[in-house]
Amino acid sequence: MAARILDGKSLAAKVRAAVKRDVEALAQRGIRPGLAVILAGDNPASRVYVRNKVRACEETGVRSEMYELPANVSEEALIDRVLALNDDSDIHGILVQLPLPKQIHADRVLESVAPAKDVDGFHESNLGALLAGKPRMVPCTPAGVMRLLDHAGVAIAGAHAVVIGRSNIVGKPLSLLLLQRDATVTICHSKSKDLENIARSADILVAAVGRAKLVTGRMVKPGACVIDVGVNRLTDGSLAGDVEFASASEVAGWITPVPGGVGPMTIAMLLENCLRAASASH
Ligand code: NAD
Repeated sequence: MAARILDGKSLAAKVRAAVKRDVEALAQRGIRPGLAVILAGDNPASRVYVRNKVRACEETGVRSEMYELPANVSEEALIDRVLALNDDSDIHGILVQLPLPKQIHADRVLESVAPAKDVDGFHESNLGALLAGKPRMVPCTPAGVMRLLDHAGVAIAGAHAVVIGRSNIVGKPLSLLLLQRDATVTICHSKSKDLENIARSADILVAAVGRAKLVTGRMVKPGACVIDVGVNRLTDGSLAGDVEFASASEVAGWITPVPGGVGPMTIAMLLENCLRAASASH
């Protein structure tokens, strides 16, 4: 039987509508959430992501400011921009679009963002809070995945969740969120052995790798929930996830499409984080 689709596009639209209502309520108290987006360099994919984020802000009434910096910007100049935004009381959230140009240490830039304005949740203190089981700003993509699972009513407590990918922005924080909800979590990565068998034992299987169609139907347990975080541009220009949708959807119980699954949820969670940061600042 074909899997049910976990429709991130429609759930994200509902989240945005709720954010819009909350933004209107905040306006009654004279508060308008403000997001600053810093884009350094001319990575075409980053430009598309930033444009989508700014558009979502406009739709929900969150004020956004764009700072475009040249590809040869110095680390110092970039950090100075962040520090100025840290001091700007009209700005509640600061997003530094990754990847950054190669002369810049991304970790130094991310650490310069005030934790209370770190709407991406990448600052060490926010990641540490998550590790300690007291989440503050939670990274948007993992938060979006959790929201999708809850929306579908997927049982998390006691489930075996296999997360393929251990990045600080997706794999690790998502594993912590699943653990916090009492899943039994296995984290796989590029050096993991026997990925196929581990994946096949998952009730919840998450692919966050960046390799098109790495996960095939053979790696999916019948009835499992498959979450595809990957975004890969194929040579013909089309987008593909990390999961081979045709074969995996024959076996899975639930599956996210690419596009229209995790991606829109990431932006919706960013808006929620902005709203939370703005409310908390007053
Ligand atoms: P990353 O490159 O930082 O991490 C990739 C991870 O995959 C690493 O931990 C690595 O060990 C693991 N890996 C690599 N090859 C592997 C293999 N053969 N088997 C098992 N594990 C392997 O990437 P990231 O930033 O975590 O992003 C992962 C993917 O998710 C990318 O396609 C990215 O574009 C996408 N992404 C999507 C969203 C969204 O909103 N939809 C957000 C962030 C990232």
